[in-house]
Amino acid sequence: MSDSVLRVGICGVAGRMGSETARALSVDPLFEVVLGVDRERQGESLREVAGPHAPDLPIRGKLGQGLDETRPDVLVDFTHAGVAVAHGSSAMERGIATVIGTSGLSKEDVRALEVCSKEHSTPGMLVPNFALGAVLLMKFAEMAIKWLPDVEIIELHHDQKADAPSGTARSTADRLVAARGETRLRKRVEQIKLDGVRGGSIDGIHIHSVRLRGLVAHQEVIFGGQGETLTLRHDSLDRTCFMEGVKLCVRKVRNLSGFVVGMDALLD
Ligand code: NAD
Repeated sequence: MSDSVLRVGICGVAGRMGSETARALSVDPLFEVVLGVDRERQGESLREVAGPHAPDLPIRGKLGQGLDETRPDVLVDFTHAGVAVAHGSSAMERGIATVIGTSGLSKEDVRALEVCSKEHSTPGMLVPNFALGAVLLMKFAEMAIKWLPDVEIIELHHDQKADAPSGTARSTADRLVAARGETRLRKRVEQIKLDGVRGGSIDGIHIHSVRLRGLVAHQEVIFGGQGETLTLRHDSLDRTCFMEGVKLCVRKVRNLSGFVVGMDALLD
């Protein structure tokens, strides 16, 4: 096997995103899946969860031990916000670059990952959305808010999603707040007659989270101006849309310095 093949570990490999990642990497000659970790389905073959092209490796329960025994070049994490920092840190402490796709991490979580990355001189990424179209939507939204500062976000996901708002919606709002700068929002007169009906707000940007069976991952950013609206919408129609972004990040993460949020830097 050539030197350029990247050896990858996947944490959360029995889940929807983890198994899709194992499937996508297993059919691409640039990658070799050497480790699959999940708290569910331990001992089962990776093939059982990720299809016939996946390696016949047992799913492990302990990430640290798995990392020590298989020494992947990169760890990908698709688990849960409560454990993703520990997983990313566990990899970076061992000098293993990490790509975290898990959503719902706080600013303090990101800070902890930045510190860990620096302490161990090992790069890492947190990517709220691996879909190229979603990354472009955020860039276009940053352009639009300079002219149309009144904006609301509607994010729509399947009913099994654990966190709300989505990492993408939060990240979009943060970026819009930064791009808006000092522009003052128009004062609204609101009589709230149902708790929560206006959604949550990040610095005045309202986010509405819809959770419904049948949906995958969708987001609208609606700008309002005098006599006009502008709607930017992105739809992830199935989980394969994330895989080009996952592969790009796995290939490039080791070239980064420090811990980076988002994959914009890789697209410029
Ligand atoms: P899922 O529930 O299907 O899978 C999560 C998996 O993680 C499960 O198999 C679970 O057993 C495992 N897990 C949880 N805690 C663990 C632990 N401590 N150790 C080992 N395994 C553990 O969820 P999903 O739909 O695959 O989503 C996973 C995460 O990825 C969520 O945070 C979701 O919001 C996020 N996500 C991100 C993107 C993106 O583009 N960044 C896209 C879709 C989903």
